[in-house]
Amino acid sequence: MSESVFQRCIHPQCGATVSLDDTSFQCPRCGGLLDVAYDWNRLRPPKSLRDFEAKWSQRTNPLSFSGVWRFRDLFPFAPDDRILTIGEGQTILQRSDSVAAYTGMNNGCLYLEYEGMNPSGSFKDNGMTAAFAHARMVGARRAACASTGNTSASCAIYCAATNLMRAIIFIGSGKISYGKLAQALDHGALTVQIAGDFDDALQRVQQVSKKLGIYLVNSINPFRLEGQKTIMYRVLEALGWEVPDWIVVPGGNLGNVSSFGKAFIELLELGLIKRAPRLAVINASGANTFYQLYEKQGARWNGGKPDDGKIDDYMKAMDAGNLRANTLASAIEINRPVSLPKALRALERCGGVVREVTDQEMLDAKAKVGAGGLGCEPASAASVAGTKKLRQEGIIGSDERVVCILTGHQLKDPTATVAYHSADPKTFEEVLGKRGVRRAMFANRAVQVPNDLDEIVKAIEVYA
Ligand SMILES: *Cc1c(COP(=O)(O)O)cnc(C)c1O
Ligand SMILES: [Zn+2]
Repeated sequence: MSESVFQRCIHPQCGATVSLDDTSFQCPRCGGLLDVAYDWNRLRPPKSLRDFEAKWSQRTNPLSFSGVWRFRDLFPFAPDDRILTIGEGQTILQRSDSVAAYTGMNNGCLYLEYEGMNPSGSFKDNGMTAAFAHARMVGARRAACASTGNTSASCAIYCAATNLMRAIIFIGSGKISYGKLAQALDHGALTVQIAGDFDDALQRVQQVSKKLGIYLVNSINPFRLEGQKTIMYRVLEALGWEVPDWIVVPGGNLGNVSSFGKAFIELLELGLIKRAPRLAVINASGANTFYQLYEKQGARWNGGKPDDGKIDDYMKAMDAGNLRANTLASAIEINRPVSLPKALRALERCGGVVREVTDQEMLDAKAKVGAGGLGCEPASAASVAGTKKLRQEGIIGSDERVVCILTGHQLKDPTATVAYHSADPKTFEEVLGKRGVRRAMFANRAVQVPNDLDEIVKAIEVYA
């Protein structure tokens, strides 16, 4: 292939290449996943990460203001005039000593990367802006995705902002939180609710996109992962370009961890960092395919010869038992992660581990994040609950430097939060109890007071 940017099968022994403007997102030879690949000898990568600091003084250029596109020299696939930015990636890496204490880390050792600050309230915008640049390069008019909520919210907002494309989103029945559904509807997306769960919706959207030639923005789209690499660049930037010891991230479809791995593999290859951090992926115990495969079945990437037999056997057994993902953390309620092979590759190159946490552990961790001054949705708190677990096991040392990714905003899913803090046992039981959550250790209950000045004053004196 003669272009300097192209798509390439992730399996080294296949290595098929596909042109940059292909939108099938599948290896034509072996059916595998594709990477966006760069011939760095013919491009101009930065010589040092510090080179990016020059962008800080160029904030009147929207592409230098964007927390995604200011790093575009590390994913140079799109001409500037195809890029649409709505201010994504203006996120913050916040040191949190209260969350550190909760997880058993020392003061100053735990950081929260708050991706809820993105325009649509989740990290998905990092990748969506990149996918939309590619969609505009190929002249797409419609974009489709299956979603547990945040992908559709992000797809809908970028479609609305481009004003050129129509969003078509597929959601499973009864599985989407109101905050996320509200976004898709408000931004004018055609919303198709199918009788099934996320895994069903994803299969259907792939079939429909192929049939109707609609641009697919699920994370099988490798351009999305290019944008998500910038979450790691911003973490490094916030740490003065120092590499932390651990990145801890919730795992659903495994696009995020795959993109993080690719970011670090490329930075190593370009000589821009000397070592990669270790990656920890945290599943919900009700949607723990990756945990089971990686930690229990020992499935590995094996330098490009992944254990497909183990993976196929596991998926077949899941189908035979009609096993469905089931967790309150709807954003990671996924049993068939599409980026699984890429995630295995990331974990091999970055010394990875996988853990599972219960809904109880996630909600308690979420309350601690909230009490510490940042908010997140239930799935995001898996990173904090997982850190606590890895600390208890002694895998993470108390003086290591850990970054937990808070993937989505607190207001995405208020139902679980209000039920957790509710004084009403019925609300608690309906929303949480029947999903196996027994107690709310850090509940902040509303105080019931008669409409009487003396009583109100008395209550405040007692409680605050
Ligand atoms: C999509 C999503 C995840 C899962 O990320 P993957 O890349 O699919 O593993 C986790 N948390 C939130 C809030 C999400 O929206
Ligand atoms: Zn291939």
